[in-house]
Amino acid sequence: MINLSHAHILKSSINFLFYISNMNKIIKIKKSVLNDCFLASQNYYPFEFSCLLSESNGIIDEFVLLMQYNSKNSSSINLFNKPFDSSIIGSFHSHPNSIPYPSTADNKFFKRFKVNIILSLFKNQLNEFDYYFEIYDSFSKKLNYELID
Ligand SMILES: [Zn+2]
Repeated sequence: MINLSHAHILKSSINFLFYISNMNKIIKIKKSVLNDCFLASQNYYPFEFSCLLSESNGIIDEFVLLMQYNSKNSSSINLFNKPFDSSIIGSFHSHPNSIPYPSTADNKFFKRFKVNIILSLFKNQLNEFDYYFEIYDSFSKKLNYELID
């Protein structure tokens, strides 16, 4: 029988190993998927946009739209609608007029996914959009990425 404290230590070391193994990991994302997510975020601006991301052959190559509730400061996806699909490994959401830094709610939500993208978008003086994005793992640590054509 394993006692609770051992189980806790085991769980912490598994999390730690996962964190170490993630450090040099490069996430591959299809350019067109990111581009579509950027366009959708632009259309929702100044409201938040969110969706899920799915992969095949190690490349994030599709986004999945779910019913969402949007406002200027938050967007929430109803995960009850999430299909039982193991290829869904990521999330995407926009931060209109704020930095691509995860909020407390984001940190909690990120735990469900391996890859989490935050796009911040601002309108510049020419009334065009400026973009900044960051990609995080489930522990809200930044991930390196590679864009695939
Ligand atoms: Zn957020």
